[in-house]
Amino acid sequence: MSFLQKVRTSLAKFMTGRRGADELSLALLIAGVILSFLSSITRIGLFYLIGLVAYGLSIFRMFSRNIEKRYGENVKFLTFWRGWRSNLKQFINRVKNMKKYKYFKCPQCNARLRLPRKVGEVTVTCGKCHHAFKQKA
Ligand SMILES: [Zn+2]
Repeated sequence: MSFLQKVRTSLAKFMTGRRGADELSLALLIAGVILSFLSSITRIGLFYLIGLVAYGLSIFRMFSRNIEKRYGENVKFLTFWRGWRSNLKQFINRVKNMKKYKYFKCPQCNARLRLPRKVGEVTVTCGKCHHAFKQKA
């Protein structure tokens, strides 16, 4: 057995029963790198400390044997991340189409609605709650 094979088998043996890197661990690593970078630019020690905590958490999560708990944390993180990403995409889309559409919220259910610009005052019926109201665009 070559040296590399020995290292590989012992690493595989060490990692059995551990979850390894998942999305949350990778996000923590990336956050750590970004915070380290920020601390080197701004010379704010707090960024460095928070970055170290992020690295530590990431390493702890990768080598943890409590797979169920780590899995649950990862699922929560992914749910949060997808929601955040979708909100960001919607926001970017609204900014892109700001000249074409006027965006507003339904006064009853808060659903986000839009009207083409320059249609004047029209009666809008919300697609979600069917509430009808007048809106200028
Ligand atoms: Zn509504």
